[in-house]
Amino acid sequence: MTIRENVPLAALTTLKVGGVARYVVSCEDERDLTEALAFARDRSLPWRVLGAGSNVLAADEGFEGVVVVFGTENITMREEEGSVFLTADAGASWDKLVSYAAEHALWGLENLAGIPGTVGAAPVQNIGAYGSEVKDTIESVRVFDAVSGEVRILPNAECAFAYRDSRFKRDASLVILSVSLTLQKDGAPRLGYKDLLVRADAGEDLSTPLAIGSVVRDIRSRKFPDLSVFGTAGSFFKNPTISEEAYGTLKERYPDLPGFPSEKGIKVPLAFVLDRVLDLRGYREGNVSLFENQPIVLVADEGATAKEIDSFADDIARRVHDATGIEVEREVRNFSA
Ligand code: NAP
Repeated sequence: MTIRENVPLAALTTLKVGGVARYVVSCEDERDLTEALAFARDRSLPWRVLGAGSNVLAADEGFEGVVVVFGTENITMREEEGSVFLTADAGASWDKLVSYAAEHALWGLENLAGIPGTVGAAPVQNIGAYGSEVKDTIESVRVFDAVSGEVRILPNAECAFAYRDSRFKRDASLVILSVSLTLQKDGAPRLGYKDLLVRADAGEDLSTPLAIGSVVRDIRSRKFPDLSVFGTAGSFFKNPTISEEAYGTLKERYPDLPGFPSEKGIKVPLAFVLDRVLDLRGYREGNVSLFENQPIVLVADEGATAKEIDSFADDIARRVHDATGIEVEREVRNFSA
């Protein structure tokens, strides 16, 4: 376990804003984690876990508490009755896990290539892309329960996975230590999304997990800003799901509005609303803007503050609501005391 003091959260998050964290404790395993939580308790400080910081908005005031990060990145593989199980540490890079699976010709993660963040963060919001969600492959999640002090294995069915959601979002006392996934040796490409169909129609090779992963990364790199260059957390908002009735009403006003039936209604691409209904592609206010290539993505320039981002996002949400009646929810979560 290593402890650092007074670490700027701007350096630990991809939006690159946020004040100082009093302590950052890097843990290797549950023993370290137990010590880190005791360290926080002894000082009457709150604690929070941080992955790669790619989906959080850190407060300008910083965090007067203990930020727990995981330092190990092990991936192990075991085979049983035609299925292959991969287990990866919470601290492993998600995209490295996707590459590992693809290099072993394993199917299941290829459409999720290029998503930033750690393995430990992936189940929290049930990351998804191009028709796949991480819940489709998760066998179980190994957690440390900070209330009971025990390590527990939660099978997929006990994780309450839903669209960009899971029980881990609501229960901060469950700290994810590692994730086990079931992958297939025999799989088939899932090319239902337009971005992938276009590339398949252009004759590109999309026949293996490796080939699909590389095309998905290329699509994403054209659409989403480079985290090493821009201050961004990818999609800032969730794509909203609205009732069939609300969708019907909007469709009368905006006949081109795409809609995708889901369990809870009709999923609407927010980018369409921002771009075609509100004409906000590239919209800027001070140091914050909507990304030109994909307006659901918010970009913070150097010098931006969390407060500025917060009010910009509120303003966007208000405009969407005023024009369409849609309540947008943030995908990015606040990191504060
Ligand atoms: P996109 O592909 O333009 O899709 C925009 C919206 O339309 C999404 O809600 C998407 O649903 C839906 N959609 C598009 N084609 C669909 C189809 N054939 N069937 C059902 N729903 C469809 O989105 P994008 O912004 O360029 O992002 C690319 C992919 O990365 C998307 O799947 C997006 O959700 C995903 N992504 C995920 C995260 C994350 O997990 N945190 C962050 C950024 C982007 P889905 O959302 O269900 O795909």
